Amino acid sequence: MPVAFAPGHVNVWALEDEDERGPCWTLVEAGFPDDATRASWLTALTGDLGGRPVRRILVTHCHPDHFGLGQWLAEQTGARIWMSLGEYLTAQAWFGDTPASGIDLMADFFRLHGLPAEQTDAMRREGSRYRRTVGALPVAMRRILPGEAITIGRDRWQAIVGYGHSPEHLSFHRPHDPVLIAGDMLLPKISPNTPTLPFEPEADAVGQYLDSIERFRALDPDTLVLPAHGDPYRGIAARVDALRAHHAERLDQMVALCARPTAAFDLLPHLFKRALDSFQTRFAMGEVIAHLNHLFLTGRLRREQHADGVFRFAQHEIQP
Ligand SMILES: [Zn+2]
Repeated sequence: MPVAFAPGHVNVWALEDEDERGPCWTLVEAGFPDDATRASWLTALTGDLGGRPVRRILVTHCHPDHFGLGQWLAEQTGARIWMSLGEYLTAQAWFGDTPASGIDLMADFFRLHGLPAEQTDAMRREGSRYRRTVGALPVAMRRILPGEAITIGRDRWQAIVGYGHSPEHLSFHRPHDPVLIAGDMLLPKISPNTPTLPFEPEADAVGQYLDSIERFRALDPDTLVLPAHGDPYRGIAARVDALRAHHAERLDQMVALCARPTAAFDLLPHLFKRALDSFQTRFAMGEVIAHLNHLFLTGRLRREQHADGVFRFAQHEIQP
């Protein structure tokens, strides 16, 4: 399905299913809420999907390119959304722009990590993007528990929880003739962002993500990975190695840049070659703070809060 921003698409999956009423589909992911995706779904439902009813829509996580069209697709098909409680409630909190999830909290949080006041003021004026992007959310769903086995057609699929990219991301694994619908956890080309979210300011999202992908190594080496972005592939262990190497390099780079006490915002021009717009700045700040938190929590950097309120991170002084 098309997505208006990079990487330009999201993969959705249709699994042959059957219930007491006969053959049906279980879909995985709903896509981004825009007219192009709505048109694609309408074509697919009557075309490739042969007019067969859709009974369930499984969603890996709450980001707009995966879940944004969930309510619309559920209305069109009469299907129930199935997802983790963590993702459902996070979506509801962002949509509702609550004190625990709203733009003011994010602006205050980024201010503490050095984002200049003019930019946090502009963020406040722009407001929350989630509600504007998504438009409508389901008010009910079927919760999937981490580790739960779900029967789809003749197959058993197990929900595997992953942390660090979003609060309670689920991937779906079929051990027999092994397939992993990986969502954003194991993308073939890009490294998913691992943001520290303002409502959990000390979180080690990077450590959580690295621990989560490590657990996929236990799967059969022949597993066909169906990622949410990019082409299907085999070779989970090599991909986990590459993702770990990417983060290790990023972490080493940040340690080197923190010779003197340095705030997350001060690192942006060193880490991102292009100028960042306000939307990209939000992503970049969350990502850089997460790496700095990881370096602090693993003892590689120290953290100090200066008189201006801003957190700065620095290498440990070497005792003579
Ligand atoms: Zn995604």
